[in-house]
Amino acid sequence: MPRNGRRWRTHVSSAFGPPAMTIVEKKSFCRICGSGCGIVVTLDGEQALKVRADEEHPVSRGYTCPKGRAIATDHHRDERLERPMIRVDGELVATTWDHLLDDLAPKLKRIIATTGPVGVGTFIGGGGFLDASGFYSLLAFGKTIGTPSSYSDMTIDSVSKALAGELFAGISGLEPRADLSKTKMVIFIGTNPVISHTRTIQMHAPTAAMRDMRAHGAELWTIDPRKCETAMRSDGFIQPRPGLDYAVLGYAIRELLIDGADRDYIADHAQGADKLAAAVDRFTLDYTSKVAGVEAETLQAFVAAIRKAGRLSIETGTGVTMQRAGNVTGWLALALMAVTGSLDREGGSWVNPGRIMRKDKADFPAAPEDGWNRPGPKSRPELRGTHGDFPCAAIPDEIAAGNLRAMMVWGGNLEVCLPETARSYAALQDLEVLGVFDVRGNRTVDIATHVMPTKGQLERADMSFVTDTSFPLLVTQYTPALIEPLGDRKAFWWILSELGKRMEIDFFPGFDHETGTDDSFLAYVLGLFGHDFAELREKRLLVEEPVIGWVQKFVDEKLGGWRLAPRLLAEQLAGLETRESAHDADKLILIPRRQKYHENSKLIDLRDPPQVMMNSVDAVKRGFAEGALIRVSTVSGKVERPLKIDDTLRPGVINIPHGWSDEMNVNNLTSTTREVDPITGMLLFSGLEVWVEAA
Ligand code: SF4
Repeated sequence: MPRNGRRWRTHVSSAFGPPAMTIVEKKSFCRICGSGCGIVVTLDGEQALKVRADEEHPVSRGYTCPKGRAIATDHHRDERLERPMIRVDGELVATTWDHLLDDLAPKLKRIIATTGPVGVGTFIGGGGFLDASGFYSLLAFGKTIGTPSSYSDMTIDSVSKALAGELFAGISGLEPRADLSKTKMVIFIGTNPVISHTRTIQMHAPTAAMRDMRAHGAELWTIDPRKCETAMRSDGFIQPRPGLDYAVLGYAIRELLIDGADRDYIADHAQGADKLAAAVDRFTLDYTSKVAGVEAETLQAFVAAIRKAGRLSIETGTGVTMQRAGNVTGWLALALMAVTGSLDREGGSWVNPGRIMRKDKADFPAAPEDGWNRPGPKSRPELRGTHGDFPCAAIPDEIAAGNLRAMMVWGGNLEVCLPETARSYAALQDLEVLGVFDVRGNRTVDIATHVMPTKGQLERADMSFVTDTSFPLLVTQYTPALIEPLGDRKAFWWILSELGKRMEIDFFPGFDHETGTDDSFLAYVLGLFGHDFAELREKRLLVEEPVIGWVQKFVDEKLGGWRLAPRLLAEQLAGLETRESAHDADKLILIPRRQKYHENSKLIDLRDPPQVMMNSVDAVKRGFAEGALIRVSTVSGKVERPLKIDDTLRPGVINIPHGWSDEMNVNNLTSTTREVDPITGMLLFSGLEVWVEAA
């Protein structure tokens, strides 16, 4: 039984297949997160026994994390989905694919005929992103039916990055990464790559990567309210009050514009340096030290390290992007890289254009000065869309208004993503269609109308597709399926093709799904981007050197230089001033955290416990002992979990890992109206003031 006390009702048991004859090892790559580490899977017939690191993988170099090594256990766990299921009289019952699709297709068609395509929404989470067939089928489905109701997990954890790039460089979703082999300084802000790899940091084998960077003379700094595992391995550590990282960056930029910035570079490749200087003018040493709660000497040492390094790279994580100042911190990180001449330049940072999509070779327009400014959905027009998505904060209201009547969920546990858990969960149950593609049961599956079990990562041929930007090189990797699918699981491409046939829509023109295979679908997708599948299948890993300078060229030609001080962000920074000195000492500030053994809600019940972490100073002050059940509240809601005392946290800070379900869901503490970023519509999951009491 899962640790949160629930028992999934969707389990359909099955045997593991025919008796095993021999034990074999097969190579693949992990798709729990986007890092794509090379793995070796030990198989006994159709049963996965064990996963270990592939020592010969040229990028991950023999590294896996505990999540990757749990793939075999995860594959056979009780909650796995094996049969299509459909809701009948309030209960999910196993059915056939024909019955499910014959029921689903006319319902979707009827909704589109009644409301227009807007009535059918899509949501994609990690399970969809990390499956090439899944991700492409989402693109094809959304584009072909023409729905604007596109939602993704980006608007619950990282949309500020998309916005900052859009306004600063005209490119939505610009994500510069360290030029690992040459950089002289890397600054980690609100990110902990030693534990939380994901696809955003191109540091496979993170501890070894940090060691390698040091070996060629790089200095590593971490800015975080918690002395996290990455901070422990860094040369410098700044522990500001939560949400005040931007003040530290503002101070550094102010100082460098006085002494240390690359003046020639700024003159040739940037615009608005005077406006940037004005925007950060309040961040003097004394002021920054006071509002951020950081010793003046530490701030001075930080700037001295930047001056010494010359070029640098800054990595930001969800500790930045999930809080109120996420947009301005993302902007100032780009600005600090630009004023030091480090952005998209050797020894600083670079932007992986993707080996399949090759953005560096594509011709696309630059975003206007205030961004694309796409209005939000009808019920929440003020929640502006970014990067092609509507903000998830709008979902409950869109359902309540009757604008959203169906939601197709591509491999994501929507229940743990949405705010105000009870209201959102009730809203999802009001949908006419909640179609879920997944490999295992969860609370979103529990309330689905149509459950479509997809092939797990050991069961499908696959390639790195949208996640190929996770690598420190241009990389595409391929894996064949290692074992047969459990039960009646199907590939995304097959399900969408069959659904399309019944809706009289061809989602994949030119692809013959009647004779199709996973391989032929990958070949089809690669062909659309001008790549050859035969070479990839034969070699399994294709690598090209990084391309540095393509974004700089784009920005020079299309914008006339980096926009150092985008108007919207400069205004938002000015607006934060009133909050900088205001702090209620009785309240704690909430920050997020990724635990070691689970990836969001994936693998959540295997090892990590649901906990609340607090410094011993705060615990003693409130009379709490280790393990006590405590209640954490905001005006929006509450969460109850056992206490873990953790002195790596700055006093005054409370830490609640996300991914947990139902009443333990930290999203209960936020709100779709009070806690929403005014520019992106992003829910604020971090930096909230909370109060705590014994439960
Ligand atoms: S870092 Fe990501 S890809 Fe690598 S083993 Fe862990 S979960 Fe898998």
